Order: sequence, then C-alpha cells, then structure tokens
Amino acid sequence: MLRLFKGLRPFRTSVVFIMILTIIGTLTDLFLPMLMAKIVDIGIVNNDIGYIVRVGGLMLGVTAVGVGSALYTNYLGARLGNGFARDLRNKIFKKVESFSLSEFDDIGTSSLITRTTNDVSQIQNIVIASLRIFIKAPLMAIGGTVMAVSKNLKLSVIIILVVTVLNLIMVLVARRIIPMFKARQKKLDKLNLVLRERLTGIRVIRAFNKVDTEIDRFNNSNKELTDISLRVNRLIAILSPIMMLIFSITTVVVTWLGAYRVNDSNMLVGDLMAFIQYITLIMSSLLMIAMIFFMVPRAFASATRINEVLDKQPSIKDNPKTLNDNEKRGYLEFKNVTFRYDNAEEPAVENISFKSDPGEVTAIIGGTGSGKSTIVNLLLRFYEASEGNILINDMDIRDMNQKKLRDKIGLVPQKALLFTGSVADNVKFGLEDINDQDIIKACQIAQADDFVNKMDDKYQSEIAQGGRNLSGGQKQRLSIARALAKKPQIYVFDDSFSALDFKTEAKLRKALKEETADSSVIIVAQKVSSVMDADRILVLDNGKIAGVGKHKELINTCDVYKQIVLSQLSEEELA
Ligand code: ADP
Ligand code: MG
Repeated sequence: MLRLFKGLRPFRTSVVFIMILTIIGTLTDLFLPMLMAKIVDIGIVNNDIGYIVRVGGLMLGVTAVGVGSALYTNYLGARLGNGFARDLRNKIFKKVESFSLSEFDDIGTSSLITRTTNDVSQIQNIVIASLRIFIKAPLMAIGGTVMAVSKNLKLSVIIILVVTVLNLIMVLVARRIIPMFKARQKKLDKLNLVLRERLTGIRVIRAFNKVDTEIDRFNNSNKELTDISLRVNRLIAILSPIMMLIFSITTVVVTWLGAYRVNDSNMLVGDLMAFIQYITLIMSSLLMIAMIFFMVPRAFASATRINEVLDKQPSIKDNPKTLNDNEKRGYLEFKNVTFRYDNAEEPAVENISFKSDPGEVTAIIGGTGSGKSTIVNLLLRFYEASEGNILINDMDIRDMNQKKLRDKIGLVPQKALLFTGSVADNVKFGLEDINDQDIIKACQIAQADDFVNKMDDKYQSEIAQGGRNLSGGQKQRLSIARALAKKPQIYVFDDSFSALDFKTEAKLRKALKEETADSSVIIVAQKVSSVMDADRILVLDNGKIAGVGKHKELINTCDVYKQIVLSQLSEEELA
C-alpha cells in the first residue's frame, strides 16, 4: 500500500499541517472537560458568577480554536486526498499506456477502468481519514485515559474492561469482513464487464432479441453485488448499536458508582462529569479506530489491484540499444513468423514469410479468423511475435523504438475508429507539421473530400462520439485519409475497403497507387476484386500460408484461392 505513494508529488507541508492541527484539535477536546469540572466544582459550588464567566469565556475560546482547526484540517484533507487521487490516476494511466495489447487482454479493459476510478477512490478515502484518525485516535485514547485516571483511579478500572471488550468485538468482525470486501470488488468488476458489453453491443442484442437474456445477465451480476454489499453493511450496521449499547451501559455504571463516591465526598460532582466525558472520548477514539479497521482492508484490496497494474511489466519494451534509422525506406520482410495469443492453444499465425519492396502491393486474403489482423498486429508490434523476425528496412522491429516503428506505418484498422472533434482533427490526428492543403489532399485520395464538403461545416464539422453521424463507408474513408496524411513508408489497410462500393473502391485504389509509389502497401481483404492486381497475394488458411503469388498463378496453383475466387465470381454473376 505504501508503495502507492512512491514517486507521487510530495504533499509534505499539507501532511505536517494536518498533523499539527489535529494535535491542537485533540488537545482542545481533552482540555474542555477539565474547565467544565472547574466551573461546576468551584464556580457553581461557591456561586462565583465572575469565575463562571471567566472560565466559560475560556471554554468558548478553546472551542473556537478546536472548531477552527477542525475546519482547516478538513479543507487540507480534501485537497490532499483529491490531489493524491489525481496523481495516482495519472500514474496508472501512464502505465496502461505502456502496455501492449497482451496486457490489455490479460487484465481486461473494464477492470482497468474500475481500477483507475473506483479503486483509487477507495484509497483516497482512507488517505484522508487515516491521516487524521491515526493521530487523533491514539492521542485521544491515551490523553483521555491519563485525564480519567487523574480524576479517579478506582473508577478507571472500568475503562480497561470496556476497552478489552470493544477490541475483542472489532477483531471478530474484521476477521469476517475482510474476505467480503475482496469478493465485493470482484463482483463490481463483473458488473462493469456485463454493463460494458451490454452497452457496446446494444444493436446486436436488440437485433437478436436478446434483451431479456441480457437483462437477466445484468440482473444476476447486479444482485450478486447487492447481496455481498448488503452482507457487508449488515455486519457494519450491527456493530454500531452494539457499540452504543456498551457505551450507554458504561455511562450508567460510571454514573452509578460515581454517585456513591460523590455521596461519600470522595469525588467532586464536576470531576465525575469530566470523568464521564473522558470515557466518551476514549470510546469514540476506539470507534474511529474501528472505522479505520473497516476501511483498511477495503483499501488494501484496492491497493493490491492497483499495484497489479503498476507492477505489470509491459511484455513489449523498447530495446535499450535501439538502432538508428538507416537510409532505406519502405522495405518490409516477414521471416518465419509464428505467434500464439496468450490465452489461445493454437498459434494464430504460423511460419509467415514474405518480402515487399517500396512501391509493391502485398495483399492478404483469407476467411475470417485466418489470422490476417494478427499479422497486422505483429507488424505494429501490438503483440510480440513468438518466433521469427519482422524486418523493416532490414532492421528487426524489436531493435527499433516503438514510436519510431509506428511512425513509419500508416494503419487503417479493421474497425474504423474516429474520435470526437472536427473532421480535420481526425485526419490530422496529432500530426503537427501538416497544413490544410495536406488534409484536403489526403481526403481527396481517400475519396472523402466529396462528402466532407457536403457536411455543414466542411472540414470543421464535428464528428460525434465513435463517428455516429457518419456511415460505415464514410468512417472507413476518413480513417484511410488519416493514414495517408501521415505519409508513411508502409501502408496497412486491414479490411478497409469492405464498406465501400465497387466504384469508390476502384477510384480510391487508383489514387492510392500514385501516392504509395515509394512505400510498401499491405492490403488485407476478403474480396478477390480488392487483391487481384497486387504484386503478390498471400493466401491465408487457418493461420498458415496456403499460397503466395500473383492472381493468375494462384488460380491455377492454389486450391484455397481458387475456391475463394469461384465462390465470389458466382456471387457476382448471380447478382
Ligand atoms: P482475421 O483478421 O483473419 O479475421 P484474426 O487475426 O483477427 O483473424 O484472428 C485470428 C485468430 O486469432 C482467430 O482464431 C481469433 O479468434 C484469434 N484471436 C484474435 N485476437 C485474439 C486475442 N486478442 N486473444 C486471443 N485470440 C485472439
Ligand atoms: Mg481481421
């Protein structure tokens, strides 16, 4: 847990201030009953109004100091806690940014979200509370005991008795509640997962009339979370009346026994009243400690989950001795590349080899799940190849800085993803030295210029979250424009023409040809028409290369390819 504080912005001054103010506040708490005893035993007994007013004034002053310091501690505590949470979220986010996709697969995106939000809040809560309570509670317990003993030694035996009983109860409850907290956090993760799937998959769920099953699934997770939360809260709820009961019984016993002593003139009335107040202080300090007791395990569970993220070593790291770029441009080679996803039994791709020189187009065709996107993921080093080498400009991509590697590649992902912002922002996407002319040019090549100009604010038109206000084909064209604007050495189009009609695709590919004259181009596709004029076609079948060659050669030599061609030709003829 303490490790979480490492490397965070120092809050030392706030912490010291909070400590000092808490000590002051506690001292005023201890001081007040003493003054009250004086008023009763001296002022009231002697009927000395002047004395009462003087000491009463002093009490008011002390109270003001106490209230003031409490207010300021709360303010500082809130600032400290929120600042801490902000920095911790930053730290987690930075770490997650360094993850390769394997780590995302491993922890799970929804869990990463809960860990960054909910788990951080849990720890934030304890940071604020504990700082004050850790100082206040022991000070109050010890101070209260000392004061109580000084008022009356014999009555103080009761304190020892009560404290022992309370401690016993707390330990018993804590034992049961800690595993529950851990379980609850897991349920919360699950609920998040279900909710996320349900929200992102809403179209499919409705189209397949799965709303009811999904509601069931959600209700189940929701119920599990509610059940365990209820159990936790019930336990905590029982604790509070028990404490109150002990509290009241103690007060009664002390008052009763005290009354005898006052009657026998062994104790002053004011001292008895002060004694009762000290016992109240001691018990409330114990209650505070109990509160921490319940927060700590929860925070520990959260801290563990956060540390899991922070400790996770990205499986892909930059080689400390990264090579500098050579003078070559646009050369690409796969040498016997094999890759298996962590959670899969079979390799997703096996023994992939091909070579592409600048200006050449390599097409990859194959059914869904044949490993096409996996090849793309490996090229971008989203995942690390298990065997074999991937070379760009004759350099192994493992010897390159990841940023530099990705700078060289213009990726159009299978699922066109746009961000909120203007059209121009999306095409520019972080590139700095790019002018409006370049943006328009990229859109013209991508065949996006026409429809962008028809939008209300043209290139300044806003794109809704996830590109909701665009059609699938429009999204694809904008994400192609985004890759083009980068002017990369290697273009990768992962099934990027699937939502385009025949004519648009033909125009686009013609325009592309000029633009990519000195780059390597990889076109992943399912349509034969998209790959037909490539310089080489890789036919993928179940992660293995079933054939490499030009269209004409493959038709005669590769059975898998022939089947694909036949199935699509007959479709087109029928249409
Ligand atoms: P394609 O793009 O040709 O449709 P993919 O490369 O996406 O195929 O997938 C190839 C195989 O790898 C499939 O069997 C798929 O289920 C599996 N796969 C893809 N992504 C992952 C992942 N993140 N974890 C585990 N298996 C995966
Ligand atoms: Mg794919």
